[in-house]
Amino acid sequence: MKMSRIFTKTLRDAPKDETAKNGALLTRAGFIHKEMAGVYDYLPLGLIVIEKIKNVIREELNKLGCEEVLMSALQNPEPWEKTGRFDDQEVDIWFKTALSSGGELGLAPTHEEPMVNMLKSYISSYKDLPVYVYQFQTKFRNELRAKSGIMRGREFLMKDLYSFHTSEEDLDKFYAQVEQAYACIFKRLGLGDSTFETFASGGIFSKYSHEYQTFLPVGEDTVYYNPDKSLVFNKEVFTDEVLDEFKAVREDFRETNAAEVGNIFKLKFKYTEPLGLKFADENNESKTIYMGCYGIGVSRVMGVIAEKYADDKGLVWPEEVAPFKYHLVAIGESGTKVADDLYSEFADKILYDDRASARPGEKFADADLIGLPYRIVISDKTLTEDSVEVTDRRTGETRMVKTIDLKGLFL
Ligand code: ATP
Ligand code: MG
Repeated sequence: MKMSRIFTKTLRDAPKDETAKNGALLTRAGFIHKEMAGVYDYLPLGLIVIEKIKNVIREELNKLGCEEVLMSALQNPEPWEKTGRFDDQEVDIWFKTALSSGGELGLAPTHEEPMVNMLKSYISSYKDLPVYVYQFQTKFRNELRAKSGIMRGREFLMKDLYSFHTSEEDLDKFYAQVEQAYACIFKRLGLGDSTFETFASGGIFSKYSHEYQTFLPVGEDTVYYNPDKSLVFNKEVFTDEVLDEFKAVREDFRETNAAEVGNIFKLKFKYTEPLGLKFADENNESKTIYMGCYGIGVSRVMGVIAEKYADDKGLVWPEEVAPFKYHLVAIGESGTKVADDLYSEFADKILYDDRASARPGEKFADADLIGLPYRIVISDKTLTEDSVEVTDRRTGETRMVKTIDLKGLFL
Protein backbone atom coordinates (compact mmCIF):
# COMPACT_ATOMS: atom_id res chain seq x y z
CA MET A 1 0.00 0.00 0.00
CA LYS A 2 1.28 3.45 -0.89
CA MET A 3 0.72 6.42 1.40
CA SER A 4 0.33 8.68 -1.63
CA ARG A 5 -2.69 6.62 -2.69
CA ILE A 6 -4.59 6.01 0.58
CA PHE A 7 -7.62 8.28 0.71
CA THR A 8 -7.33 8.63 4.50
CA LYS A 9 -5.01 11.09 6.19
CA THR A 10 -3.36 10.99 9.56
CA LEU A 11 -4.82 13.57 11.92
CA ARG A 12 -3.04 15.68 14.47
CA ASP A 13 -6.03 15.64 16.81
CA ALA A 14 -8.75 13.16 17.57
CA PRO A 15 -12.41 14.22 17.46
CA LYS A 16 -13.38 15.91 20.74
CA ASP A 17 -16.07 13.36 21.59
CA GLU A 18 -13.60 10.48 21.30
CA THR A 19 -12.43 10.06 24.86
CA ALA A 20 -11.11 6.47 24.65
CA LYS A 21 -7.44 6.12 23.77
CA ASN A 22 -8.06 3.29 21.30
CA GLY A 23 -10.73 5.29 19.47
CA ALA A 24 -8.61 8.45 19.40
CA LEU A 25 -5.41 6.81 18.15
CA LEU A 26 -7.11 4.54 15.63
CA THR A 27 -8.96 7.57 14.25
CA ARG A 28 -5.86 9.76 14.10
CA ALA A 29 -3.86 7.00 12.38
CA GLY A 30 -6.60 6.44 9.80
CA PHE A 31 -7.77 2.95 10.83
CA ILE A 32 -11.36 3.82 11.76
CA HIS A 33 -13.91 6.57 11.30
CA LYS A 34 -16.58 7.35 13.86
CA GLU A 35 -20.15 7.60 12.59
CA MET A 36 -21.70 8.16 16.03
CA ALA A 37 -21.25 6.85 19.57
CA GLY A 38 -20.56 3.11 19.38
CA VAL A 39 -20.70 2.99 15.57
CA TYR A 40 -17.52 2.94 13.49
CA ASP A 41 -16.33 2.44 9.93
CA TYR A 42 -13.23 0.35 9.27
CA LEU A 43 -10.93 2.09 6.79
CA PRO A 44 -8.31 0.39 4.57
CA LEU A 45 -5.66 -0.07 7.29
CA GLY A 46 -8.22 -0.96 9.95
CA LEU A 47 -9.91 -3.50 7.73
CA ILE A 48 -6.62 -5.33 7.19
CA VAL A 49 -6.20 -5.59 10.98
CA ILE A 50 -9.74 -6.96 11.32
CA GLU A 51 -9.09 -9.50 8.57
CA LYS A 52 -5.81 -10.59 10.19
CA ILE A 53 -7.53 -11.11 13.55
CA LYS A 54 -10.27 -13.09 11.80
CA ASN A 55 -7.72 -15.23 10.00
CA VAL A 56 -5.90 -16.19 13.21
CA ILE A 57 -9.23 -17.24 14.73
CA ARG A 58 -10.33 -18.99 11.53
CA GLU A 59 -7.11 -21.01 11.28
CA GLU A 60 -7.31 -22.24 14.86
CA LEU A 61 -11.03 -23.12 14.65
CA ASN A 62 -10.66 -24.89 11.32
CA LYS A 63 -8.03 -27.12 12.96
CA LEU A 64 -10.82 -28.35 15.26
CA GLY A 65 -13.03 -29.15 12.27
CA CYS A 66 -15.30 -26.12 12.66
CA GLU A 67 -17.31 -25.00 9.62
CA GLU A 68 -17.77 -21.34 8.72
CA VAL A 69 -21.10 -19.81 7.70
CA LEU A 70 -22.60 -16.34 7.49
CA MET A 71 -26.06 -15.97 8.95
CA SER A 72 -28.45 -13.09 8.50
CA ALA A 73 -28.45 -10.02 10.73
CA LEU A 74 -32.20 -9.48 10.35
CA GLN A 75 -34.09 -11.69 12.75
CA ASN A 76 -37.43 -13.39 12.51
CA PRO A 77 -38.96 -12.99 16.01
CA GLU A 78 -40.41 -16.52 15.95
CA PRO A 79 -37.50 -18.63 17.27
CA TRP A 80 -36.67 -15.90 19.79
CA GLU A 81 -40.24 -15.97 21.09
CA LYS A 82 -39.85 -19.70 21.78
CA THR A 83 -36.97 -19.01 24.18
CA GLY A 84 -38.56 -15.86 25.62
CA ARG A 85 -35.68 -13.69 24.38
CA PHE A 86 -37.60 -11.44 21.99
CA ASP A 87 -39.08 -9.79 25.06
CA ASP A 88 -37.41 -6.43 25.84
CA GLN A 89 -37.88 -7.20 29.52
CA GLU A 90 -35.71 -10.29 29.05
CA VAL A 91 -33.12 -8.86 26.61
CA ASP A 92 -32.86 -5.11 27.00
CA ILE A 93 -30.42 -4.32 24.18
CA TRP A 94 -32.53 -5.17 21.11
CA PHE A 95 -32.67 -2.94 18.09
CA LYS A 96 -36.03 -3.68 16.49
CA THR A 97 -37.67 -2.37 13.39
CA ALA A 98 -41.11 -2.52 11.80
CA LEU A 99 -41.75 -4.29 8.52
CA SER A 100 -43.65 -2.15 6.06
CA SER A 101 -45.79 -5.20 5.30
CA GLY A 102 -46.64 -5.45 8.99
CA GLY A 103 -44.92 -7.12 11.90
CA GLU A 104 -41.55 -6.64 13.49
CA LEU A 105 -37.95 -7.69 12.91
CA GLY A 106 -34.93 -7.64 15.19
CA LEU A 107 -31.27 -6.94 14.42
CA ALA A 108 -29.29 -9.85 15.80
CA PRO A 109 -27.53 -9.15 19.12
CA THR A 110 -26.27 -12.80 19.05
CA HIS A 111 -27.26 -15.94 17.11
CA GLU A 112 -28.17 -18.89 19.38
CA GLU A 113 -31.83 -18.99 18.35
CA PRO A 114 -31.43 -18.69 14.56
CA MET A 115 -28.49 -21.12 14.62
CA VAL A 116 -30.45 -23.81 16.48
CA ASN A 117 -33.49 -23.15 14.32
CA MET A 118 -31.47 -23.37 11.09
CA LEU A 119 -29.86 -26.67 12.13
CA LYS A 120 -33.28 -28.29 12.57
CA SER A 121 -33.35 -28.52 8.77
CA TYR A 122 -30.14 -30.56 8.69
CA ILE A 123 -29.71 -32.63 11.86
CA SER A 124 -31.92 -35.56 12.74
CA SER A 125 -29.71 -38.52 13.63
CA TYR A 126 -26.79 -39.29 15.92
CA LYS A 127 -24.93 -39.86 12.64
CA ASP A 128 -25.20 -36.12 11.90
CA LEU A 129 -23.37 -35.16 15.11
CA PRO A 130 -21.20 -33.59 16.37
CA VAL A 131 -21.44 -30.32 14.44
CA TYR A 132 -19.35 -27.17 15.00
CA VAL A 133 -20.52 -24.04 13.18
CA TYR A 134 -19.14 -20.52 13.40
CA GLN A 135 -19.32 -17.15 11.75
CA PHE A 136 -17.88 -13.66 11.83
CA GLN A 137 -20.86 -11.41 11.97
CA THR A 138 -21.96 -7.92 12.81
CA LYS A 139 -24.02 -7.82 16.00
CA PHE A 140 -26.30 -5.00 17.05
CA ARG A 141 -26.83 -4.07 20.67
CA ASN A 142 -28.49 -0.99 22.05
CA GLU A 143 -25.82 -0.56 24.73
CA LEU A 144 -26.61 2.10 27.31
CA ARG A 145 -23.06 3.46 27.28
CA ALA A 146 -20.67 3.45 24.34
CA LYS A 147 -17.66 5.43 25.50
CA SER A 148 -14.89 2.87 25.12
CA GLY A 149 -14.10 3.41 21.44
CA ILE A 150 -14.32 0.19 19.45
CA MET A 151 -14.14 -1.80 22.68
CA ARG A 152 -17.89 -1.33 23.10
CA GLY A 153 -19.91 -0.83 19.98
CA ARG A 154 -23.63 -0.64 19.32
CA GLU A 155 -22.66 -2.35 16.09
CA PHE A 156 -19.66 -4.64 16.43
CA LEU A 157 -17.97 -7.68 14.98
CA MET A 158 -18.11 -10.99 16.81
CA LYS A 159 -16.92 -14.48 16.09
CA ASP A 160 -19.55 -16.85 17.39
CA LEU A 161 -19.10 -20.60 17.37
CA TYR A 162 -21.78 -23.10 18.36
CA SER A 163 -21.26 -26.81 18.96
CA PHE A 164 -23.82 -29.62 19.01
CA HIS A 165 -23.38 -33.05 20.58
CA THR A 166 -25.11 -36.32 21.40
CA SER A 167 -23.75 -36.41 24.96
CA GLU A 168 -22.47 -34.27 27.78
CA GLU A 169 -19.08 -36.05 27.60
CA ASP A 170 -18.74 -35.09 23.96
CA LEU A 171 -19.61 -31.47 24.76
CA ASP A 172 -17.05 -31.49 27.61
CA LYS A 173 -14.37 -32.87 25.30
CA PHE A 174 -14.96 -30.24 22.63
CA TYR A 175 -15.18 -27.45 25.22
CA ALA A 176 -11.68 -28.42 26.41
CA GLN A 177 -10.42 -28.31 22.81
CA VAL A 178 -11.84 -24.81 22.41
CA GLU A 179 -10.06 -23.76 25.61
CA GLN A 180 -6.78 -24.88 24.02
CA ALA A 181 -7.62 -23.13 20.75
CA TYR A 182 -8.45 -19.89 22.59
CA ALA A 183 -5.13 -19.96 24.43
CA CYS A 184 -3.44 -20.31 21.06
CA ILE A 185 -5.51 -17.55 19.45
CA PHE A 186 -4.85 -14.96 22.14
CA LYS A 187 -1.17 -15.82 22.13
CA ARG A 188 -0.96 -15.31 18.37
CA LEU A 189 -2.89 -12.04 18.69
CA GLY A 190 -0.20 -10.75 21.03
CA LEU A 191 -2.44 -10.94 24.11
CA GLY A 192 -1.16 -14.24 25.52
CA ASP A 193 0.62 -12.80 28.55
CA SER A 194 -2.23 -10.56 29.62
CA THR A 195 -5.32 -12.66 28.85
CA PHE A 196 -6.62 -15.08 31.47
CA GLU A 197 -9.30 -17.69 31.44
CA THR A 198 -11.63 -16.47 34.15
CA PHE A 199 -14.32 -18.28 36.08
CA ALA A 200 -17.73 -16.73 35.52
CA SER A 201 -21.21 -17.82 36.46
CA GLY A 202 -22.60 -20.60 34.33
CA GLY A 203 -26.28 -19.98 34.79
CA ILE A 204 -28.57 -22.93 35.44
CA PHE A 205 -26.98 -25.71 33.45
CA SER A 206 -23.33 -25.73 34.33
CA LYS A 207 -21.70 -24.40 37.40
CA TYR A 208 -19.22 -22.10 35.66
CA SER A 209 -18.66 -20.59 32.29
CA HIS A 210 -15.37 -19.03 31.30
CA GLU A 211 -14.55 -15.54 30.21
CA TYR A 212 -11.31 -14.55 28.56
CA GLN A 213 -10.27 -11.37 30.32
CA THR A 214 -7.38 -9.19 29.16
CA PHE A 215 -5.94 -7.20 32.04
CA LEU A 216 -6.19 -3.56 31.04
CA PRO A 217 -6.49 -0.40 33.16
CA VAL A 218 -9.42 0.91 31.08
CA GLY A 219 -11.19 -2.46 30.93
CA GLU A 220 -14.84 -2.20 31.96
CA ASP A 221 -14.78 -5.38 34.06
CA THR A 222 -13.32 -6.07 37.48
CA VAL A 223 -11.64 -9.42 38.08
CA TYR A 224 -9.82 -11.02 41.00
CA TYR A 225 -6.47 -12.58 40.32
CA ASN A 226 -4.38 -14.99 42.35
CA PRO A 227 -0.92 -15.10 40.70
CA ASP A 228 0.34 -18.11 42.67
CA LYS A 229 -2.53 -20.33 41.67
CA SER A 230 -3.06 -18.46 38.38
CA LEU A 231 -6.71 -18.40 39.28
CA VAL A 232 -9.01 -15.62 38.10
CA PHE A 233 -12.63 -14.98 39.08
CA ASN A 234 -15.01 -12.38 37.78
CA LYS A 235 -17.02 -10.23 40.16
CA GLU A 236 -20.11 -12.45 40.05
CA VAL A 237 -18.39 -15.57 41.34
CA PHE A 238 -15.86 -14.00 43.72
CA THR A 239 -17.84 -15.13 46.77
CA ASP A 240 -16.92 -16.92 49.98
CA GLU A 241 -18.73 -20.03 48.80
CA VAL A 242 -16.75 -20.23 45.55
CA LEU A 243 -13.47 -19.41 47.29
CA ASP A 244 -14.09 -22.32 49.68
CA GLU A 245 -14.70 -24.62 46.76
CA PHE A 246 -11.32 -23.67 45.28
CA LYS A 247 -9.62 -23.79 48.69
CA ALA A 248 -8.56 -20.19 48.23
CA VAL A 249 -8.61 -17.17 50.51
CA ARG A 250 -9.79 -13.69 49.60
CA GLU A 251 -6.55 -12.01 50.81
CA ASP A 252 -4.48 -13.82 48.15
CA PHE A 253 -6.35 -12.09 45.33
CA ARG A 254 -5.64 -8.78 43.64
CA GLU A 255 -8.41 -6.70 42.12
CA THR A 256 -7.68 -5.75 38.49
CA ASN A 257 -9.51 -4.04 35.63
CA ALA A 258 -9.96 -6.18 32.56
CA ALA A 259 -11.68 -6.29 29.17
CA GLU A 260 -13.66 -9.38 28.22
CA VAL A 261 -12.34 -10.45 24.83
CA GLY A 262 -14.19 -13.75 24.68
CA ASN A 263 -16.29 -16.25 26.55
CA ILE A 264 -17.33 -19.88 26.37
CA PHE A 265 -20.46 -21.53 27.69
CA LYS A 266 -21.86 -25.00 28.11
CA LEU A 267 -25.47 -24.27 27.26
CA LYS A 268 -26.59 -27.91 27.26
CA PHE A 269 -30.36 -27.82 26.54
CA LYS A 270 -30.97 -24.11 27.18
CA TYR A 271 -31.85 -23.35 23.54
CA THR A 272 -32.11 -26.80 21.94
CA GLU A 273 -34.96 -27.84 24.28
CA PRO A 274 -37.35 -24.91 23.71
CA LEU A 275 -36.56 -24.88 19.99
CA GLY A 276 -36.87 -28.66 19.70
CA LEU A 277 -33.47 -29.53 18.20
CA LYS A 278 -33.40 -33.32 18.66
CA PHE A 279 -31.66 -36.37 17.27
CA ALA A 280 -32.56 -40.04 16.99
CA ASP A 281 -30.03 -42.20 18.87
CA GLU A 282 -28.83 -45.73 17.95
CA ASN A 283 -32.09 -47.18 19.30
CA ASN A 284 -34.13 -44.64 17.37
CA GLU A 285 -35.06 -42.85 20.57
CA SER A 286 -35.55 -39.09 20.24
CA LYS A 287 -33.19 -37.03 22.43
CA THR A 288 -32.39 -33.37 22.88
CA ILE A 289 -29.05 -32.16 21.53
CA TYR A 290 -26.32 -30.80 23.83
CA MET A 291 -25.04 -27.35 22.88
CA GLY A 292 -22.06 -25.10 23.63
CA CYS A 293 -21.32 -21.54 22.49
CA TYR A 294 -18.02 -19.73 22.17
CA GLY A 295 -17.60 -16.01 21.42
CA ILE A 296 -14.72 -13.67 20.63
CA GLY A 297 -15.21 -9.93 20.23
CA VAL A 298 -13.21 -9.34 17.06
CA SER A 299 -13.53 -5.55 16.96
CA ARG A 300 -13.10 -5.33 20.74
CA VAL A 301 -9.86 -7.35 20.41
CA MET A 302 -8.57 -4.75 17.94
CA GLY A 303 -9.40 -1.99 20.43
CA VAL A 304 -7.76 -3.88 23.28
CA ILE A 305 -4.57 -4.44 21.29
CA ALA A 306 -4.47 -0.75 20.33
CA GLU A 307 -5.09 0.30 23.92
CA LYS A 308 -2.60 -2.15 25.43
CA TYR A 309 0.46 -1.48 23.28
CA ALA A 310 0.16 2.20 22.37
CA ASP A 311 2.82 4.57 23.67
CA ASP A 312 3.07 8.35 23.68
CA LYS A 313 3.95 8.39 19.97
CA GLY A 314 1.10 6.24 18.74
CA LEU A 315 0.00 2.68 18.01
CA VAL A 316 2.27 -0.36 18.32
CA TRP A 317 1.00 -3.47 16.50
CA PRO A 318 2.06 -7.03 17.30
CA GLU A 319 3.37 -8.67 14.14
CA GLU A 320 0.49 -11.09 13.48
CA VAL A 321 -2.14 -8.36 13.37
CA ALA A 322 -0.16 -5.43 11.95
CA PRO A 323 -1.62 -4.35 8.60
CA PHE A 324 1.92 -4.55 7.19
CA LYS A 325 5.21 -5.64 8.71
CA TYR A 326 7.30 -2.76 7.32
CA HIS A 327 6.82 0.96 7.07
CA LEU A 328 9.10 2.08 4.28
CA VAL A 329 10.30 5.68 4.25
CA ALA A 330 12.23 6.95 1.26
CA ILE A 331 14.24 10.16 1.44
CA GLY A 332 15.97 11.74 -1.51
CA GLU A 333 16.35 10.66 -5.11
CA SER A 334 18.52 7.56 -4.82
CA GLY A 335 16.67 6.53 -1.64
CA THR A 336 13.43 6.63 -3.59
CA LYS A 337 14.88 4.55 -6.39
CA VAL A 338 15.93 1.73 -4.04
CA ALA A 339 12.63 1.97 -2.13
CA ASP A 340 10.55 1.79 -5.33
CA ASP A 341 12.41 -1.34 -6.29
CA LEU A 342 11.89 -2.97 -2.89
CA TYR A 343 8.21 -2.07 -2.87
CA SER A 344 7.55 -3.50 -6.30
CA GLU A 345 8.86 -6.85 -5.12
CA PHE A 346 7.30 -7.04 -1.61
CA ALA A 347 4.22 -4.82 -1.78
CA ASP A 348 2.13 -7.15 0.41
CA LYS A 349 4.45 -6.59 3.39
CA ILE A 350 5.05 -2.86 2.99
CA LEU A 351 3.29 0.39 3.72
CA TYR A 352 5.33 2.71 1.53
CA ASP A 353 5.50 6.38 2.40
CA ASP A 354 6.22 7.57 -1.11
CA ARG A 355 4.73 11.02 -0.60
CA ALA A 356 6.91 13.52 -2.38
CA SER A 357 5.37 16.45 -0.53
CA ALA A 358 5.90 15.23 3.04
CA ARG A 359 9.01 16.20 5.00
CA PRO A 360 11.09 13.42 6.64
CA GLY A 361 9.97 14.54 10.13
CA GLU A 362 6.34 14.24 9.09
CA LYS A 363 6.94 10.79 7.66
CA PHE A 364 8.66 9.61 10.85
CA ALA A 365 5.85 10.94 13.04
CA ASP A 366 3.26 9.18 10.88
CA ALA A 367 5.24 5.94 11.00
CA ASP A 368 5.24 6.17 14.80
CA LEU A 369 1.51 6.95 14.89
CA ILE A 370 0.53 4.09 12.55
CA GLY A 371 2.73 1.71 14.54
CA LEU A 372 3.90 -0.99 12.13
CA PRO A 373 6.50 -3.37 13.66
CA TYR A 374 9.52 -2.09 11.66
CA ARG A 375 10.41 1.15 9.97
CA ILE A 376 12.89 1.03 7.11
CA VAL A 377 14.51 4.32 6.14
CA ILE A 378 16.35 4.49 2.84
CA SER A 379 18.04 7.81 2.21
CA ASP A 380 20.87 9.13 0.13
CA LYS A 381 22.83 9.27 3.38
CA THR A 382 22.28 5.62 4.39
CA LEU A 383 23.08 4.59 0.84
CA THR A 384 26.53 6.20 1.00
CA GLU A 385 27.22 3.36 3.47
CA ASP A 386 25.41 0.83 1.22
CA SER A 387 22.90 0.46 4.05
CA VAL A 388 19.36 1.13 5.15
CA GLU A 389 18.16 1.90 8.66
CA VAL A 390 15.72 -0.54 10.34
CA THR A 391 13.97 0.55 13.54
CA ASP A 392 11.90 -1.66 15.82
CA ARG A 393 8.74 0.31 16.69
CA ARG A 394 8.30 -1.40 20.05
CA THR A 395 11.83 -1.10 21.44
CA GLY A 396 12.99 1.88 19.39
CA GLU A 397 16.21 0.03 18.56
CA THR A 398 17.80 0.92 15.26
CA ARG A 399 20.25 -1.14 13.25
CA MET A 400 21.88 -0.70 9.87
CA VAL A 401 21.25 -3.42 7.30
CA LYS A 402 23.43 -3.69 4.20
CA THR A 403 21.48 -3.14 0.99
CA ILE A 404 22.63 -6.52 -0.32
CA ASP A 405 20.98 -8.14 2.74
CA LEU A 406 17.82 -6.07 2.51
CA LYS A 407 15.72 -8.55 0.56
CA GLY A 408 16.60 -11.21 3.11
CA LEU A 409 14.38 -9.38 5.63
CA PHE A 410 11.36 -10.20 3.50
CA LEU A 411 11.99 -13.88 2.79
P1 ATP B 1 -20.03 -7.41 28.04
O1 ATP B 1 -20.16 -7.93 29.44
O2 ATP B 1 -18.73 -6.74 27.78
O3 ATP B 1 -21.22 -6.61 27.62
P2 ATP B 1 -21.23 -9.78 27.01
O4 ATP B 1 -21.13 -10.74 28.13
O5 ATP B 1 -22.50 -9.08 26.78
O6 ATP B 1 -20.02 -8.71 27.11
P3 ATP B 1 -21.30 -11.77 24.91
O7 ATP B 1 -22.74 -11.63 24.65
O8 ATP B 1 -20.88 -13.01 25.57
O9 ATP B 1 -20.73 -10.48 25.67
O10 ATP B 1 -20.48 -11.59 23.54
C1 ATP B 1 -19.29 -12.29 23.21
C2 ATP B 1 -18.11 -11.35 23.08
O11 ATP B 1 -18.43 -10.24 22.25
C3 ATP B 1 -17.67 -10.72 24.38
O12 ATP B 1 -16.80 -11.56 25.08
C4 ATP B 1 -16.98 -9.44 23.92
O13 ATP B 1 -15.64 -9.71 23.59
C5 ATP B 1 -17.74 -9.08 22.68
N1 ATP B 1 -18.70 -7.99 22.93
C6 ATP B 1 -19.84 -8.02 23.65
N2 ATP B 1 -20.49 -6.86 23.63
C7 ATP B 1 -19.73 -6.03 22.85
C8 ATP B 1 -19.88 -4.69 22.42
N3 ATP B 1 -20.94 -3.96 22.77
N4 ATP B 1 -18.92 -4.16 21.62
C9 ATP B 1 -17.85 -4.91 21.24
N5 ATP B 1 -17.67 -6.18 21.61
C10 ATP B 1 -18.59 -6.75 22.40
MG1 MG C 1 -23.16 -7.15 27.21
